[in-house]
Amino acid sequence: MQTSGTSEPIVRIRDLKKNSVNFVLQNVDLAFANSFRRVMIADIPTVAIDMVEIETNTTVLPDEFIAHRLGMIPLVSTACDEAMRYTRDCTCEVRCQYCAIELHLNIACHEAGRTMDVTSNMLDVVPTSKPGAYGNFEQDDGGEELAKRVENFGHPVGKGDPDVPPILICKIRKGQELKVRCIAKKGLAKEHAKWSPCAAVSFEYDPHNKLRHTSYWYEYDARAEWPLSENAKEEEPPRDDLPFDYNAKPNKFYMEVETDGSLGAQEVVQKGLQELQTKLANLIVGLKPEPPEADVFQGGGGGALGGQPNGHEPAQTGGWGAPSPATSWSPTRAGGGGGGGWSPTRAGGAPTGAGGWGSPGTGGGWGAPAGGAGGSTAGSWGSPSSGQGWGSPSQQQNGWNVG
Ligand SMILES: [Zn+2]
Repeated sequence: MQTSGTSEPIVRIRDLKKNSVNFVLQNVDLAFANSFRRVMIADIPTVAIDMVEIETNTTVLPDEFIAHRLGMIPLVSTACDEAMRYTRDCTCEVRCQYCAIELHLNIACHEAGRTMDVTSNMLDVVPTSKPGAYGNFEQDDGGEELAKRVENFGHPVGKGDPDVPPILICKIRKGQELKVRCIAKKGLAKEHAKWSPCAAVSFEYDPHNKLRHTSYWYEYDARAEWPLSENAKEEEPPRDDLPFDYNAKPNKFYMEVETDGSLGAQEVVQKGLQELQTKLANLIVGLKPEPPEADVFQGGGGGALGGQPNGHEPAQTGGWGAPSPATSWSPTRAGGGGGGGWSPTRAGGAPTGAGGWGSPGTGGGWGAPAGGAGGSTAGSWGSPSSGQGWGSPSQQQNGWNVG
């Protein structure tokens, strides 16, 4: 799977700004790089407006339009995974201070002859300590969440910062008014793209196209007509006399992560890695054989996989190698279905915004024949003894302590 048994994943940061980071990820395989990209897009929780109660709207825009625009406004979500609960996991009946943030917008134009901008800066967060802010204020819940929130948690990104231009919601003229009450909730971009912390995540690999994962259309000369990317400087140019290496695999990925400001770029990358680790750990737990007392005829050995909780067919003989791990696992979650399948009934409407869904990044990683999809680079993250992957016939050797 890997170039050598000793190679560990390497990350080299080339450029780090508040809302973007550019880094080179080395010694991982294509499947890992793409999983990482997708986790950053779709599996990191943020806060976004999810319900809008419109009291007055005499603007030119209809209620749904306003609600959608409010939903897409990025809200400060620092440490959201610990600072807030999902409403579905909360003990409250409808919503409470631990699982919801209330924002108000109340603006009217009284000046003749002037067009007024209604912007995200006019959204005010209702303080959680305010009594009566919620119907069922549960003081004794003991939630730790509030202590973990930063001061401007849930505020529109850039509010109070003169260097960040506010987001325009609509424009009003004299006599027009907009008064709304919004409830922001914690969510994941798998449900709706408004919860994605990322504006774009892309990666490129093999800038010289040595692996021939891309075929160039050209008139006379592909090299003259297709300028090399900046990343080509990082790799040796191909020599014309070398034969095509059909066993070669991509190993170096040039990644660019840009956030919408709800989370910092550094937090997105770190939480992305954590999330990926958690997912893989859960997968391993889910694939563990039942304890011996559950079925006396099954030993505790790693080979027997009867009665998995995940509904996969039991392997006949030894473990993972059986039939085709790559195809069984690849599209587990997230990804393509993230936007389309969900009915856009709430604030936010169609899953526009993040833009990351359809775009396959610069390197065109999607269409690539990821032969190594079964190969675990991931193993290298946690364990020194990787080198083999899911595809390995011996699950004891693959770096994960499966048995
Ligand atoms: Zn609650």
